[in-house]
Amino acid sequence: SAYARIIAVTGANKGIGLAIVRNIALQYPSSTLNSGPLLLYLTARDTTRGNAAIDALNAEEKFAKVLKAHGGPVSVAFKQLDISNTASIDGFAADLQREHGQIDIVVNNAGIALDGFDAEVVNKTLATNYHCTLYATLAFLKLLKPAYTSRLVNVASTAGRLSQFPASLQKRFIDASNTPDDGKAATVIMRDFEEAVKAGGKKHEALGFPSAAYSTSKAGLIAATRAVALRVAKENDGAKEFPLVNSCCPGWVNTDMTKGKGPKTVDQGAKTPVYLAMENLGGKYGEFWRDEKIIEW
Ligand code: NDP
Repeated sequence: SAYARIIAVTGANKGIGLAIVRNIALQYPSSTLNSGPLLLYLTARDTTRGNAAIDALNAEEKFAKVLKAHGGPVSVAFKQLDISNTASIDGFAADLQREHGQIDIVVNNAGIALDGFDAEVVNKTLATNYHCTLYATLAFLKLLKPAYTSRLVNVASTAGRLSQFPASLQKRFIDASNTPDDGKAATVIMRDFEEAVKAGGKKHEALGFPSAAYSTSKAGLIAATRAVALRVAKENDGAKEFPLVNSCCPGWVNTDMTKGKGPKTVDQGAKTPVYLAMENLGGKYGEFWRDEKIIEW
C-alpha cells in the first residue's frame, strides 16, 4: 500500500458520519498521526449517495486544500458497505486486507432509529445497531495494526444509559461489559429482549426491558464494545501495544435521525468520535465517552 495510514468510517454519506470523515481529513495534516499519505474510506450502503457525498466534499474549498490532488496528504475514496449485511462487511474487510494488509482506524458510525415498537422494529434495529455492528467490530479489529494509534470507535448513545433498566438488568449489562468474551454475554441479553418482544404480552417489560428498540440496542453496543476492548487488552497482556477500542455518544445532534431537533451541529457531534480516533488517549480503552471525556454509563 502506498499509504501510511488507512481509516474507514461507516454510514458516512450524511449526518455525523460525513462530519467525521470531513474532520478527520481536515485535522490529519497537522495531527501526530500524520506519518505520510492517508487513505480515508467514506463508506455508505448506497453508491449514489456515497459518491454524491464525496463530490460535495471535493467542492468545498477548505476540504480541497488537504487533498492529495492539491498537494495535501489526504485521499478520500468511496466503498460500498451495508453494515446490516455480513457478506458486505466480509467483502470490505477482504478488500482492505488484500489492498493494504493492515489498517489504522475504523469508526462504526452507521445506525438506525425506527419509529414504533414491535418485533420487526426490534429485530431490524438490533440487527443493524447491535449484531452487525459487533460483527463489523470483530472483522475490522483483525485488520488493525498492533499499536495504540490503532482505534476502533463505536458510535453508541446516551440513550443506552444503564439507569433506564431495573437493578437486575443493570447488573447483567455491567457483568457482560466486564467479561472479555467479545460481546457474547451482551448478545445473550439482546436475544432475550428480542425473544420476549416476539413472544408478546409485554413479556419484555416483565424482564425489565423498556419498549424501546434503539435505546436497548445502544446499551448492548456499549456493553459489547467494552467486552471486546477487554479481550483485546487481555490477549496482548500489556506486553505489546494493541488497538484501543471505545464507544461514545456524539451528543444530541441536528441530523435526519433527530428530524432536525438536536441542538448540536454535525461538526460538534463528530468531535468525540474524531477525538477517540485520532488523539492520544493515554492508553485508555473499553470506556464510554461523551464531550471528549469518559462518562458513567
Ligand atoms: P443519520 O440518520 O443522519 O445518518 C445515519 C447514517 O447511517 C446514514 O449515512 C445512513 O445511510 C447510515 N446507515 C444506516 N443504516 C446503514 C447500513 N445498514 N449500512 C450502512 N450505513 C447505514 O443519523 P446520525 O448522523 O444522527 O447518526 C449517526 C450515529 O450517531 C448513529 O449510530 C446514531 O445512532 C448515533 N447517534 C446520533 C445522535 C443524534 O443526536 N443525531 C445521538 C446519539 C447517537 P443512508 O443515508 O443510506 O440511510
